[in-house]
Amino acid sequence: MIKIENVSKNFGEGEKLFQALRSIDLEVEEGECVILSGISGSGKSTLLSLMAALDRPSGGKIVVEGELVSKLPDLHASAYRAKTIGVVFQHFNLIESLSVEENVIVPLINSGLDIPTIHKMAEQSMQRASILHKSSQDVSSLSGGEKQRCAIARALVHDPKVILCDEPTANLDRENSLKFIETIQELHEAGKTIVVATHDPLFETLPFESRVVHMEDGVIGSISE
Ligand code: ADP
Ligand code: MG
Repeated sequence: MIKIENVSKNFGEGEKLFQALRSIDLEVEEGECVILSGISGSGKSTLLSLMAALDRPSGGKIVVEGELVSKLPDLHASAYRAKTIGVVFQHFNLIESLSVEENVIVPLINSGLDIPTIHKMAEQSMQRASILHKSSQDVSSLSGGEKQRCAIARALVHDPKVILCDEPTANLDRENSLKFIETIQELHEAGKTIVVATHDPLFETLPFESRVVHMEDGVIGSISE
């Protein structure tokens, strides 16, 4: 499903050159849940952004669902995300002045689908993320846990096969973090391929099958099942 081969990522150049990722090899099977762990600065977010084709590697290649995403031009990169990828960010990246449903609909704006279909898909996604009861409320008035559920509903609205989460519990209390893990478990059981970048120890021992991949200084270290 996801194949990362000898991937490197440099920032800056000359004396300021910084190697954020160095010869990364990683394969994620369809339906697998992989936890990318490692301290802040180890390269987790950089690797996720390459998988999402939000940025391109300096070397190596990334293939997702048979598509060479490491070389996609911008226009194709957004089409690839719209088709294949759902992303949940640490800071949720929601539009505070819009309602929950309006935020959830954003990824479908250029989909060409008709309005009743878009509403139906948004409703299903909000239901799945347990935020349907707040559908018409402005995001600015939601709690942290509710914002997270709204972000999940938005990430799932186009029913992507691959879900990428970056520090999803960093702004959540323990109760909401555990709820988030339940949602991940449901997605895992629904056959989604999931990669979570986190340094939250809650993800080290999940109540379902997952693989922890440790990152350190831009390289992948030990892998535990
Ligand atoms: P993590 O998500 O594990 O905390 P990151 O992938 O965000 O780590 O960052 C890895 C390293 O790359 C850090 O040292 C960070 O400062 C550096 N880095 C990330 N993005 C950039 C950028 N756009 N320009 C320069 N350095 C960057
Ligand atoms: Mg990060």
